[in-house]
Amino acid sequence: MRKLAVLAVLGISFSIATGADRVDAPSITIMIECRGAVRQISVRTAPFKYNKDFAWSFTLDDGVASGALVAFPYFNGGRVAPSLKGEWGIDQGGDGQDYPGLFFTDGCGNKVPFRAAVAINGKSIGRSGFLSWGQVGTLYKAGWDVFNHGYAHATGNGVDVDFECRENNRIVREKGGITMRQFVVPGGAGETISEGPYTKAAFDQGMEAVHDGHVPGHVLLMDTALSLREMRAGRQFLFAGNIPDSAETYFREIRELLQAGKKPWFNAFTHGTGNDNLWRISLPFPDLKIFFGRLEKEYGQNGKDNVWFASFQEVQEYSLIRQSLVYSVRKKGNRIYIRIDTGKLPPGLRHRCQTFILDGGQAIERVSCTGGSVESFSKNAAGSKLVNWCF
Ligand SMILES: [Zn+2]
Repeated sequence: MRKLAVLAVLGISFSIATGADRVDAPSITIMIECRGAVRQISVRTAPFKYNKDFAWSFTLDDGVASGALVAFPYFNGGRVAPSLKGEWGIDQGGDGQDYPGLFFTDGCGNKVPFRAAVAINGKSIGRSGFLSWGQVGTLYKAGWDVFNHGYAHATGNGVDVDFECRENNRIVREKGGITMRQFVVPGGAGETISEGPYTKAAFDQGMEAVHDGHVPGHVLLMDTALSLREMRAGRQFLFAGNIPDSAETYFREIRELLQAGKKPWFNAFTHGTGNDNLWRISLPFPDLKIFFGRLEKEYGQNGKDNVWFASFQEVQEYSLIRQSLVYSVRKKGNRIYIRIDTGKLPPGLRHRCQTFILDGGQAIERVSCTGGSVESFSKNAAGSKLVNWCF
């Protein structure tokens, strides 16, 4: 009786209810094969990818070299550059040691490295002390994001904000093959004149978020009230002035929000991460290790494993997809079919992934996907099961 009812309901949204493997374009079908017959099953999307409890986004502003020399190998695993004094007389290197990387898991037994973003000025890239185009490409290929920080970091009166935003988009697309979707207002907390015009220009040019130190708060709560389009993001500034001294406060904030049952999304940034405190607005390597090493220890793979450390763009795009996801579920024997209507998905996104949570049913034997790909799935027999997929 129950099965008939399900098919009758699904019949409305399905153009065909027969031929389980047939897919009508445009659609994505995920086929989940379980160990035994599926009786009761509920499928829902996870608020954060991999069904984590909170998201933590980190951006390195101004495109300085230490992002690739120090932060990237420390987060991703690899050799951190040795001490390296550039033309400013500032040490943008680290300790020359190998690091294993910082990880959380995908909820299915696989490690995922902490991934951040760099906010760059196209005019500076390739200059001494800044990232090269090759380094920008390396970060991007590893899943980091690249944000628009204006072409020349121009601030104050009379800035041609439309040009700054457009020219940076153009050169980063031309030299790096990268389409930027996020804008970081240059100038930080000391700059208020060009902030409004920059914000307008960035949204006019299709940016999905504008990061701005004047926007109050650095924690968003992932719930239905959160508006995900044309987001204005406040930011927490991590630098030698507050790390490590304020780290305790920041960790308490995470703890309290989680204890209150919230789904917080933190947005933080710094500039350089080398041995020296570049321009006195950076997070020197020893402090970077203290803060992020602790974040991994408490909330990463060997801790509670409940952090999703991903760029603001990745989290926003996941959420945009989740918000517009239209899907239907059908079961047949030991199989579950989830059919996703791709016509409703937002276009132009880079991070096109989603996590389904399955409650009920048997252990999963196999998952395949038509029109997309399976990233991973959990094989546990009891409790909630995850299916991570991309398109
Ligand atoms: Zn800046």
